[in-house]
Amino acid sequence: MPHFEKHDIKSLNQKELEDFFVSLGEKPFRARQVYHWMHISHAGSFDEMGNIPQSLKEKLKERCELTVLRQKLAQRSKVDETAKYLFGLPDGNMIESVRMKYKHGNSVCISSQAGCRMGCRFCASTLDGLARNLTPAEMLEQVYRVQEDIGERVSHVVVMGSGEPLDNYDNLLKFLELLSDGNGLHISQRNITVSTCGIVPNMRRLAGEKLQITLAISLHAASQKKREELMPVARKYGLEELLEACGYYFGQTGRRITFEYSLVGKVNDRPQDARQLAGLLKGQNCHVNLIPVNPIKERAYVQPDGQAVKEFRQALEKQGITVTVRREMGRDIDGACGQLRRRQMG
Ligand code: SAH
Repeated sequence: MPHFEKHDIKSLNQKELEDFFVSLGEKPFRARQVYHWMHISHAGSFDEMGNIPQSLKEKLKERCELTVLRQKLAQRSKVDETAKYLFGLPDGNMIESVRMKYKHGNSVCISSQAGCRMGCRFCASTLDGLARNLTPAEMLEQVYRVQEDIGERVSHVVVMGSGEPLDNYDNLLKFLELLSDGNGLHISQRNITVSTCGIVPNMRRLAGEKLQITLAISLHAASQKKREELMPVARKYGLEELLEACGYYFGQTGRRITFEYSLVGKVNDRPQDARQLAGLLKGQNCHVNLIPVNPIKERAYVQPDGQAVKEFRQALEKQGITVTVRREMGRDIDGACGQLRRRQMG
């Protein structure tokens, strides 16, 4: 077989796919059929594409890569319908995705990179560094494979799995375009959340895209010093700069920012931390998501006690800030982000 890069056709939008088909001497309507097979029917191979002539299938097999993730493992909760999936990528890497069932629908939490290079102290995904960026198709496939597995429509997607989405900007953007495409899964942008540790220049760039998605910021500390201790990225992009970029994002998009704050026992869960956070966010149109830290064995961090969580929440609410404490789901299949992959890749 000749050595050339195969075309990653599942990462193309419909127009790009049509142009590619025309360059192969095919009709645009064939591209629309194949697009439907990939993004609506979630075909696992070219052979499944029933209305495509055999000769075209052969041509596509030769020239194109049809990215399909293989399910390696699914851990299903017995207490709720949460499930954690381990998927194999075409090159042998592995990634995790999580399905959560809510009253309002099915949500899938996807990974944006294999591994991560951000180095947050409490996070397991970053312990072995970044393996590589995921392609748009590999991000989409996580949603498609979960939907096929559960046999129900996925209505919400959160980019909160392993990896830093704004460290894989172009692929993230293409993924968002394909995920919300009317000819594909058509997930409303309002049902999509992207979480970042705070890569300021790309937050500003994202603001310019004028998307209707929710941007979540992993804040985790209300002072520059403490944030630097927990998140190395804070040394590059300081707290002040980060909050300015949040204000800019809101100004450009009108979309309220979510701040995530992982409560770590005795580290950032004290009353003075809550007061400092309230002071920082007062007057901002935002929402705070408190997440009791999920301890990983490689680090000494512990969960906050229930009383500390309650008081922390009240201190924020007293200042008029809306707060949710993230409901713990799939407690019995838990393991913090990145742990399942780490164990399997051993
Ligand atoms: N890189 C992005 C998205 C991935 S992490 C980001 O930093 O936002 C998704 C969220 O889970 C982040 O808020 C992250 O800080 C948090 N997180 C990671 N490991 C955790 C752990 N062990 N316990 C609690 N939250 C954790």
